[in-house]
Amino acid sequence: FQPQAEFANGKIVGIEALARWERDGQVIRPHHFVGMLESDGLAAGLTDTILDQACAWKRRWQDDGLRLNLSVNVSPATLHDPAAADRYQQIVEAHGVSPSEVILEITESLLMADAARGLGVLARLRLKGFGLSIDDFGTGYSSLAQLSQVPFTELKIDQGFVFGAHSQPRKRAVVEASLDLARKLQLETVAEGVETVEDWQMLAELGCGIAQGYLVGAPVPAEDLAECVARWRAPH
Ligand code: C2E
Ligand code: CA
Ligand code: CA
Repeated sequence: FQPQAEFANGKIVGIEALARWERDGQVIRPHHFVGMLESDGLAAGLTDTILDQACAWKRRWQDDGLRLNLSVNVSPATLHDPAAADRYQQIVEAHGVSPSEVILEITESLLMADAARGLGVLARLRLKGFGLSIDDFGTGYSSLAQLSQVPFTELKIDQGFVFGAHSQPRKRAVVEASLDLARKLQLETVAEGVETVEDWQMLAELGCGIAQGYLVGAPVPAEDLAECVARWRAPH
């Protein structure tokens, strides 16, 4: 899990679940296995499992007084399954977690490749109260028309535009335009890849909502999250 902090007050308000595969004592990052699972038709199982495990943890933290929104990455193929929305609701509620505290992330490029087919499931998820986030924003060439059709609640600016934006006018321009668009569509904004105090300060000045990146904390095993939250101090 990786923590997310609000720019305005520095508070940790959420976490993103990031899949890891432990095999022969080694921890394998998702880019080595997610694509393979997807092309083998196993994407739905991955999403279900991660959602289930992450909600179990969210509930434990909640019981300890640590209330955090949970973001989970969803493979776009699962959006072709009309039963997905009901299933996600069941998984979340089985842990006593409200869908309104769960944000499902879909990458911009994969979604837009097949937007029309996924739209029904996304609309149903939104009706159930799930948050919907457009991940890696800026890398997917979606049109404004497409973006306004999907009932997103959050826009995550890709780390490629965030890292170094304070000193690179072209990156900064993309960040500013993304924040502008999000404001107009009334979306929450998350900047990924916030690694330096300089980028934090610039994003805070531009009115970005939430920071995620090594500055706030790298992904940690669930057991270490509470300590990571307690240790964090936001820059001034
Ligand atoms: P993502 O959703 O864009 O997740 C952010 C990635 O950036 C994570 O890599 C995270 O460890 C890394 N990161 C976080 N902060 C920083 C930073 O400050 N600087 C830099 N350079 N990197 C940072 P990770 O965990 O290797 O995940 C890679 C991708 O794999 C994710 O990108 C996501 O698209 C996918 N993924 C992860 N978990 C799942 C999952 O459960 N299901 C599916 N379908 N995809 C997943
Ligand atoms: Ca993500
Ligand atoms: Ca991303």
